[in-house]
Amino acid sequence: MERSHVNPHVVLLPYPLQGHIKPMMSLAELLGSANFQVTFVNTNHNHDLLLRNTDITSFCNRFPNFQFRSIPSGLPANVIRSGLTAKDVFDAMKAMSKPAFRDLLISLGEETEQRQRPTCVIADGILCFLTLDVSEELQIPLLALRTHNASYSWIYFHLPKLIEDGHIPFLDENMDKPVAGIPGFENFLRNRDLPGTCRVKTSDDDYLLQFFIGETFAMTRASALILNTFEIEAPVVSLLGSHFTKIYTIGPLHKLRKSRMKDINSPSVSSSGILQKEDTSCMTWLNSQPPKSVLYVSFGSLVGLTREQMSELWHGLVNSGQRFLLVVRPDLILGEPGAGATPLAQNKGTEERNRFIVSWAPQEEVLAHPAVGGFLTHGGWNSTLEGIVAGVPMICWPQFSDQFVNSRCVSEVWKIGFDMKDTCDGSIIEKLVRDLMENKREEIMGSTDRVATMAHDAVNEGGSSYRNLDGLIEDIRLMARK
Ligand code: UDP
Repeated sequence: MERSHVNPHVVLLPYPLQGHIKPMMSLAELLGSANFQVTFVNTNHNHDLLLRNTDITSFCNRFPNFQFRSIPSGLPANVIRSGLTAKDVFDAMKAMSKPAFRDLLISLGEETEQRQRPTCVIADGILCFLTLDVSEELQIPLLALRTHNASYSWIYFHLPKLIEDGHIPFLDENMDKPVAGIPGFENFLRNRDLPGTCRVKTSDDDYLLQFFIGETFAMTRASALILNTFEIEAPVVSLLGSHFTKIYTIGPLHKLRKSRMKDINSPSVSSSGILQKEDTSCMTWLNSQPPKSVLYVSFGSLVGLTREQMSELWHGLVNSGQRFLLVVRPDLILGEPGAGATPLAQNKGTEERNRFIVSWAPQEEVLAHPAVGGFLTHGGWNSTLEGIVAGVPMICWPQFSDQFVNSRCVSEVWKIGFDMKDTCDGSIIEKLVRDLMENKREEIMGSTDRVATMAHDAVNEGGSSYRNLDGLIEDIRLMARK
């Protein structure tokens, strides 16, 4: 095949969780719409979930340049709640997924009339242990998509020094002490905002901490770093530049996809439930609510709450007197798999005067609905970006991972919401909800609107993310010609 005439073939490998698959899928769809050949690789378990919950057949019929493949994770299907340690999970992936991914790349390397060999791999930034050696051996350039924000990666680069200085692990009584030694973050970062892994309690926590530090430094061996962020993180992105050959900021990816692929009737996997079945009944309920009156409450795909936390949350919400739409996943309550909303279950799917409960919402659509005026979130990065794009102010109740720093940025840096910290008190929740929806609404809406405008500007034609995606597409085209 004449190399200048072939379309690049990109193999994308997300970390096997909803919050990582979704932005990777947005990127895959964007590359597919540039006529690239795309192979999207999930674990077998997630591939089955995708087939069950999302119409990938219509999608592949519409986009024949797109194919889904799967590899084993080496884990039982119920990995998240199964009580396996992090070490078990990563050891299994090393043993099973890594050779399977290598075999897959080799088989894709057998060029056909329709499909050229892989031009590059785009893998999740925390899968370097699985992808780096393989891509280096097979001489296929690797680009890392880090689905967390830039601040979180920047913090990880400084953790070895904080550990060496004895700053980590820190004592609970020092939660609110400032963190020194992370350039750019001196004015706002507290111990409690460090990655969840810094709250080392067990040897498994320690394993995870070391593992993620290792993956962060390993990412620098990739040809480039792709970040789902935009101007709100410009200073930290430029600091990160010292570690990477090339950085492409192309966020918010879900909005960039919509901005570039304007045909709203075109099938999209990234805007579907992906691994979850969406319950759209709440949209009808929202249609009958006054503008900006509803607080949307959702904790993403992984967070679990204790029964006590759930009860405090419920009382805080009800006593606030505000309308709310609450997502209660069947596994939300810790230790009670399948219990879902009980004893809230009597409300589930039923229309109450001022509240509605679903097990999984079409979140982007919900946040964009005119009736939604606030978002109580765990502060996952996708949820935070989706709230920003919708111009909806937030209360963040961070539980682990990057949620702490996201929550701090929301409240202290971008000033588009409140940080609930690790509060578990119905009366505090009640007050925060009232402040967000009524009392302090005006003071927070100015910056919320401003940040939303920045996000929209970034993804519209001429904006930074729009241009950076063009740059990424062009650079991959150049790789294909080599
Ligand atoms: N989400 C959804 N419906 C729900 C809850 C979550 O569509 O009822 C989506 C949400 O839009 C987001 C993703 O699930 O894109 C969660 O990712 P995030 O990074 O916020 O959190 P994680 O699940 O990784 O903790």
